[in-house]
Amino acid sequence: MVSEFYEAYSNRHQLAEGWKRAGKKIFGYFCNYTPEELIYSAGIIPVRIRGSAENIDLADAHLPTFCCSYMRSALDQALKGRYGYLDGVVFPKTCDMTRALYDVWRRNIKLPYYWFLPVPGKSTDEAVKFFTHELRLFKESLEGYADQKISDKSLKQAIRVYNESRSLVGEVYKLSLSDNHPLSGTQVFGILLAGLIMPKEEHSAMLRKLLDSLPAPNTSRENGTRLLVAGNNFENIELLQTLEECGGEVVIDDLDIGTRYYGSTVDENSEPLRALAERYLRKIPCPCKHPAEPRLEHMLKLAKDYRVKGVILVIQKYCDTHLYERPWIESRLKEEGLPVLAVEHSDTGWSGGKFKTMVQAFIEMLE
Ligand code: SF4
Repeated sequence: MVSEFYEAYSNRHQLAEGWKRAGKKIFGYFCNYTPEELIYSAGIIPVRIRGSAENIDLADAHLPTFCCSYMRSALDQALKGRYGYLDGVVFPKTCDMTRALYDVWRRNIKLPYYWFLPVPGKSTDEAVKFFTHELRLFKESLEGYADQKISDKSLKQAIRVYNESRSLVGEVYKLSLSDNHPLSGTQVFGILLAGLIMPKEEHSAMLRKLLDSLPAPNTSRENGTRLLVAGNNFENIELLQTLEECGGEVVIDDLDIGTRYYGSTVDENSEPLRALAERYLRKIPCPCKHPAEPRLEHMLKLAKDYRVKGVILVIQKYCDTHLYERPWIESRLKEEGLPVLAVEHSDTGWSGGKFKTMVQAFIEMLE
């Protein structure tokens, strides 16, 4: 049953086309700074725009090859018509690449709805106030598109649905606190990916069923070297499979589709727009936001709680924000006694052999 999550992710375009035929509206969005709850409360299904491991052909006419492969690939997929079911796309201000892609995407792909959401770089009280105002403008624009008001009641309901999803994924993460846990890191990755592209209630229903049906811990299984995978997003599940084949065990992550996305709930008892602004600005920051220290503390806490032996830092090639932060974060992790293997990664042209050699050497060193 756990394979159903990754299958759903692999068939995400066919699934979305089915929702579209059933009369649903679907918006694509980027990054984990888009408050999906607002889109959901307007009766629209939000799906994360992802890239692909396919070759990039069409996007090279619009973006230089020194842009990150995630964005180049995402645009390429859209230009090839893979996202033909979208009714709109939302771009939050995160890195410069997201900002630039908004114009390129909009110019080349005609859709009924686009929104660029300014997201402050800091999480001060002033920033929260500003972002609350921006969320109000976003909400009004969604109301205009959907031709219906978004009531506080429906927004609060959306917040509950998203909080429940966060809490169920939290249950999955907790399983690997102990040895002999029933799900591999690769399987958990499939669960995380499915949650990006499915309506949250459906994903949560699958998760509840999975959690109820999991076997007892298998004490005869040999445990691998406990690892934390950090960085930004990547498409190749083979990356995690390689870690596991080499004797590693991915027990926790600090990824933008993982704990930085599913962590931190929205306060259900506060005014909803303000509560959303607080959550999105005060969650564990991605490297495009400041300050960076809370993210380091988050990683150190996870490493301690999950008894991690080493960190695999996976960074998309040419990703300015992650590469800028890398020397500092790598040296701080090492100072705290955590060995780090840093890998620059490109979703296209994935070189499994070279990665495997690096991982083998790293895991041998940890044992
Ligand atoms: S944060 Fe990095 S990987 Fe993500 S879109 Fe920006 S440049 Fe690309």
